Amino acid sequence: MTTAVVRAPAKINLGLSVGPLREDGFHELATVYMALDLHDTVRVTARDDDQVTVTVQADAREGDEAVAVPVGPDNLAVRAVELLRGAAGFTGGVDLAIRKVIPVAGGMAGGSADAAAALVGANHVWGLGWERDALADLAADLGSDVPFLLHGGVGIGTGRGEKISPVLSRGRYGFLVVVAREGLSTPSVYAEFDRLEPDPEVPHVAPELMAALRGHDTERLGEHLANDLEPAALSLRPELDRVLQIGLDAGALAGIVSGSGPTCVFLIEDDADAAMLTAALWASPGCADVIHTHGPAAGARVIA
Ligand code: ATP
Repeated sequence: MTTAVVRAPAKINLGLSVGPLREDGFHELATVYMALDLHDTVRVTARDDDQVTVTVQADAREGDEAVAVPVGPDNLAVRAVELLRGAAGFTGGVDLAIRKVIPVAGGMAGGSADAAAALVGANHVWGLGWERDALADLAADLGSDVPFLLHGGVGIGTGRGEKISPVLSRGRYGFLVVVAREGLSTPSVYAEFDRLEPDPEVPHVAPELMAALRGHDTERLGEHLANDLEPAALSLRPELDRVLQIGLDAGALAGIVSGSGPTCVFLIEDDADAAMLTAALWASPGCADVIHTHGPAAGARVIA
């Protein structure tokens, strides 16, 4: 039986500029993604029949995430392999075993990561030979973040976030990720954004952010982290304001809500600061976990 073990990264949005609502119901975005060393792992095993099965194992964390992840046709990884075999005219099946580390409904694209991993794994075990760009084109139908998670590194996302161009970025950065006990639904955060910001400007990428990444200027990067969804996430979950303040008071260079939240991400200057900051953040309201990680990381890839 052919098996591939695939790792796919979480993402953060270093910049997330949200523009007007489009006719298709999505907002026009300009975002700068970075893939992180925080990964889900998906074991993809080819089957003799045409069934697609999925199991989900989650890290023990307050709030038992596995409960929130569907284990049927709604799982994004299942949808991904079904989309691929339809597009490839293939008839085989697979077993998908997902090991979740990326917080669920945390604004870090965990479901999209599993979809990206499933695409790479099924392509491998079925011997389809699709190029990464072809998988990324297909992936856009699954979710706006999936094409970026196939590419990894640092990238600009435009359209609804699915059109990716690579970004020149030097060096690595350290982050602390504060996982909340209770997730926030992405559509509800966008609905709150629409209420707070009925007439947004055309979205743009800050040139200062690009310059900081080019020059590996951590301090400057911290000054220009920005997320237009943050006011909406704070409005729905006011305690996140306190989380951000605790991280800054404890010495983080910058802190932002990640994507649609409620995960908060802190940029840190030095790994030596991580232990003290972690202790302070553990005491913040609604905290389920604090994860020390780094970026950028590679996109979804076969590791075994
Ligand atoms: P994004 O940042 O892409 O908007 P998110 O990181 O906030 O998403 P996800 O963890 O991707 O949120 O999950 C959002 C919802 O998608 C979950 O509540 C769950 O019901 C559903 N879902 C479907 N498949 C998966 C999967 N493989 N892993 C996690 N959630 C999944």
